[in-house]
Amino acid sequence: MKKEKKQDLKWIVIVSFFALSIYNIWFGLFGMLCMGAPIYHALRGRGRHHCKHHCPRGSFMSNVVRKISLGYRMPKFMATKTFRHVLLSLMVVMLTLGMIHTGGDPKKIAFTLFRFMGVSFIFGIMLGVIFKSKSWCAVCPMGHASVLITDLVKSKKSA
Ligand code: SF4
Repeated sequence: MKKEKKQDLKWIVIVSFFALSIYNIWFGLFGMLCMGAPIYHALRGRGRHHCKHHCPRGSFMSNVVRKISLGYRMPKFMATKTFRHVLLSLMVVMLTLGMIHTGGDPKKIAFTLFRFMGVSFIFGIMLGVIFKSKSWCAVCPMGHASVLITDLVKSKKSA
């Protein structure tokens, strides 16, 4: 008998994150989990494990954005490693500067994380609406960082 595909509802987590953070900015601190989880798996040498099994953002693109996506092909330059490196570097710089500006104030950190998550989410949605729904995942700094970290961990192990 054909196995029924499990419904993917992980995207509700990211929608709840934004709704709760708008309601109370302290929820923005949960953004750390969103960024920490892929890194945790990557440090254990699991590559894009988080992307494949847990990511609510990827799930949102697959299940929600897919319904309104125009599905154009992404420009070739965006699919290059250089573009991914640039986006990852930009993310690290923006986040670092944002964190420095908080001066260690937890509420400001929560807001910075929320803003950072929001900007990248909106950018990801725009990409997904114009191009294929999961285009964001092809350039996502967290996904790219996961691959780079895993490669590093594996090369260290085999050295
Ligand atoms: S590439 Fe980014 S958005 Fe896509 S599933 Fe992985 S971590 Fe999530």
